[in-house]
Amino acid sequence: MEKVYDAIIFGGGIIGSCIFDDLTLSGYSAVLLEIGGDVASGTSKANSGIVHAGFDATPGTLKAKFNVEGSLMYPEMCNRVGVRLGNCGAYVIGNDLKKVEELYSRGLTNGVKDLEILNREQLLKRIPNITENITCGLFAKSSKIVSPYVLTISLAEEGILNGGVVELNYNTIKVEHKNGVYEVTNGKTKYFGKYLINSTGNAYNDMAKLIGSETYDIKYKRGEYYILDKSEFSVAYSTIFPLPSAHSKGILVTPTVDGNTLVGPTSYESDSSVKTTDLGLKEIKEKSSAMLNNVNLKKAIRIFSGVRAVVGDDFVIEKSKLKPNVINLAGICSPGLSSAPAISKYVISELMQLTYDLKKNAKHKLVPYTLSKTLPKQELNDLIAKDSDYGKVVCKCEDVTVGDIKMALNRPLKINSVDGIKRRVRAGMGRCQGGFCLDKVISIIAESNNETLEDVCKEGVGTNFIVGNIKE
Ligand SMILES: Cc1cc2nc3c(=O)[nH]c(=O)nc-3n(C[C@H](O)[C@H](O)[C@H](O)COP(=O)(O)OP(=O)(O)OC[C@H]3O[C@@H](n4cnc5c(N)ncnc54)[C@H](O)[C@@H]3O)c2cc1C
Repeated sequence: MEKVYDAIIFGGGIIGSCIFDDLTLSGYSAVLLEIGGDVASGTSKANSGIVHAGFDATPGTLKAKFNVEGSLMYPEMCNRVGVRLGNCGAYVIGNDLKKVEELYSRGLTNGVKDLEILNREQLLKRIPNITENITCGLFAKSSKIVSPYVLTISLAEEGILNGGVVELNYNTIKVEHKNGVYEVTNGKTKYFGKYLINSTGNAYNDMAKLIGSETYDIKYKRGEYYILDKSEFSVAYSTIFPLPSAHSKGILVTPTVDGNTLVGPTSYESDSSVKTTDLGLKEIKEKSSAMLNNVNLKKAIRIFSGVRAVVGDDFVIEKSKLKPNVINLAGICSPGLSSAPAISKYVISELMQLTYDLKKNAKHKLVPYTLSKTLPKQELNDLIAKDSDYGKVVCKCEDVTVGDIKMALNRPLKINSVDGIKRRVRAGMGRCQGGFCLDKVISIIAESNNETLEDVCKEGVGTNFIVGNIKE
């Protein structure tokens, strides 16, 4: 007899991984099928990493409801999986007091606490590098920052640790509904499930067509960024937004939990490809320098972009009317990261009508991604005495050791990609962007996974660095 899972989840972004983990912790059997070589392969790896307070979303929308609820759930969730949450707060600054007051009252309507309106003098005391244009602002104490990919990976790993199954590089080619059970195949491995959850982000419609469920008019909006070297950290200790426009929260400057500074994103209609453009980068330069002095984009170590899937003005989170037991999650653009735990709770308890109880099956606690460089000196020395790999630095920009990389390769979710290592332990995330350590990282992955150098990928299937045989 084939195993029938309570749920098959398509797409291991923050939404799919959170639902997968929550179902597993609540005692249900779940399989997460991800087409990429890792979870967080889509938009969840390329965003601002802000857990928004919730003052921006239009009152009465799903965005407002889930943002505020989700943001309140973050401390407990991050604490459970050992993911750092930065309590840096956020400022929205500009020169239109009426708009600041509107944001303030929208925040109150949405249920956001600890909001404060500030004048220029008050702002200058906290952000000395605001430009001359800035006369007023709003402070949201509860706004936070998180690494969106470390969180997504950790949630997927916690789910695996407690009995869930994750298949990477799984490209579904057929979905059939027979005798009340869904059968899903990629041509090699079949899975059977009672519920299907479509959380494939930008690819939602393609999966919906395979399932036979609703498709939506999805528009894509690209957001481009600069990421600055750690030397620039003092430019913004909190997230600094401009006053929002009708179509976006605007170009912000924010610290990351890892000590870099993000400047971006743009927001314009695009296709779903991730690329950067001269026009977009120019806009970031103009708008960030209108808000803050000393934003030194010459200190950028990387430029990148992420793409939002947008359906009208709100998230689509509903049960399919065309197919039984199918949950549609479309247009989960910003604030999707902030909303993820609340969306997951709603999907499980309201749409699937299952018992949401994260303590029920929480048998195994996830060991957090603690990097050796963060350990106190004595603890690090003890670790090196036990395992000399922790004394061998591979990535000099970020102080990542052979031991850290091997630890990441021996976690519940098995990967064989350089980008997977980069996101887990930061090898290649620093100033040289992997220029000096790439070959060593490839060798460690191959050796540790008992694979050849040719097997190691950048990201997923078909992204192998080395094609052909390497002669000794
Ligand atoms: C520029 C930008 C900035 C943002 N900033 C913030 C922010 O600061 N705070 C915030 O709250 N939100 C923010 N967001 C929104 C947030 O990033 C998204 O809401 C969230 O990442 C969406 O997660 P998801 O799981 O729905 O989609 P994704 O992360 O895209 O996950 C979908 C997954 O499905 C996989 N997939 C695709 N097709 C298939 C298939 N056929 N089978 C299996 N798997 C498949 C993909 O590989 C991917 O891993 C931002 C978004 C952008 C673009």
